[in-house]
Amino acid sequence: MRLTRRVVSFFYNYLNQLTVIMEKTKKSGTVKFFNGKEIPLEMHKVRIVQSIKLVPIERRLEAIREAGFNTFLLGTKDIFLDMLTDSGTNAMSDEQLSKMFVADDAYAGSQSFVKFQKSVADVFGKNLILPVHQGRAAENIISQTFVRKGSVIPMNYHFTTTLAHIQLNGGTVVELYTPEAMVIKSTHPFKGNIDIARLEELIVKNGAENVPFIRMEASTNLIGGQPFSMENMKDVRKVADKYKIIIVLDASLIGENAYFIKQREAAYQDSSIGAILNEMCSLSDIVYFSGRKVSSSRGGAICTNSKDLFNKMKDLVPLYEGFLTYGGISIREIEAMTVGLYETLQEDVVGQSPSFIKYAVQELDKLGLPVIMPGGALGCHVEAQTFLPQIPQSEYPAGALVAAFYLISGVRGMERGTLSSIRDEQGNDIYAELELMRLAFPRRVFTLSQVEYLIDRLNWLYKNRDLVGGLKFVEEPPVLRFFTGRLDATSPWPEKLIAKFRADFGDSL
Ligand SMILES: *Cc1c(COP(=O)(O)O)cnc(C)c1O
Repeated sequence: MRLTRRVVSFFYNYLNQLTVIMEKTKKSGTVKFFNGKEIPLEMHKVRIVQSIKLVPIERRLEAIREAGFNTFLLGTKDIFLDMLTDSGTNAMSDEQLSKMFVADDAYAGSQSFVKFQKSVADVFGKNLILPVHQGRAAENIISQTFVRKGSVIPMNYHFTTTLAHIQLNGGTVVELYTPEAMVIKSTHPFKGNIDIARLEELIVKNGAENVPFIRMEASTNLIGGQPFSMENMKDVRKVADKYKIIIVLDASLIGENAYFIKQREAAYQDSSIGAILNEMCSLSDIVYFSGRKVSSSRGGAICTNSKDLFNKMKDLVPLYEGFLTYGGISIREIEAMTVGLYETLQEDVVGQSPSFIKYAVQELDKLGLPVIMPGGALGCHVEAQTFLPQIPQSEYPAGALVAAFYLISGVRGMERGTLSSIRDEQGNDIYAELELMRLAFPRRVFTLSQVEYLIDRLNWLYKNRDLVGGLKFVEEPPVLRFFTGRLDATSPWPEKLIAKFRADFGDSL
């Protein structure tokens, strides 16, 4: 056992040194421009393309009406830039695609799974792996195994599917974010940190026996893809050890979090992404992830080095997912996930989306638009209550912004505000803390001129924001209403917006 550990650790050190050397020689993809401009440069070339169309604004009005002013219900034939999500939509590499053809299809004992196990051990330092079909499936298994009625689960912030699974098993989620997390325009490098003092207080108050695990989410999705620092993670480990509680790390966006640690945490500026990933995972007892995000494929997994924890969860995999060597994932995707995991060791890969988001956020900020700062992982977030102060929360400002922005640009974003919330027992909307439009930047999918288009049209909308009005429900499903609910404009504001668009842009699309 000790010998294998030494061999494994020798391998990591070798791998890490190798990546440090590789990164030093090319200085992380930053190129100085003679004209002094700082723009993110693509460290990839396009070899397979998919055509997209920008349909005229009049068709976009028909399309958004057909979709009940809900961008989830739009068809991609009417969409120019699809920025709904980064889930399963990252561009895959040539290496990933080629490996899909050598997949070893077998119900049990597939050698593709053996390769996957090795990649998880190499990249995350965990040797016991349970495959699952996507991230939320991991949350189902972890929650069923560890959460009981009365359990309290502290975390830096919730994710929609995480919260649902924990509640389904009778547990309560407590978010212990720092005050900085809710500041829209901030310069704090780690808005995803957990508040350590409140974490300890919570454990003492509820009793450690009622806290089955502490959950940390890398690049905290719902507060703008904001990272936590390694220092914060080390402090969480100290608290966990003191009270003998395990740490569960949601690693769906861990590559970007590691990139931010390297960029923003002084002690790590010379570390390789591989070394940072390894250290983050070594501070956690269970690591799970959505392969739709982290490895630019589809699939997911739960991993650990504890035989005891592994055995507790293991039997649920064949029950809900599939046999232990495929977990409901197509074997081709397992091959793609394996390569995708190794690719997260490259700074150019995990830094691509954050560097484009940073560019977009800085340009939008210069134009005076309310965007979440600093830029994080996964997307650019526009704050709708400042953008559209004339729309009360009862008329869904974030939903109206997303619909208006689609109308004038063909860009599909996602509402993350009161529409995505629920009603209380009296039937009143529970207003969201933040009304956001999220514009996702899937990895290596869009070009900088497309980002320039986005900035230009968003700026135009901001200048014409007085023309935008609210939305009201016409069909409201009782659960997860944001997916399939239908709405309408509260006044003929879309027509007014089109008239102004035509006056300013002539016959431009
Ligand atoms: C997307 C995501 C999940 C859920 O993963 P799916 O593959 O969509 O089920 C869980 N946690 C985080 C942080 C995510 O971003």
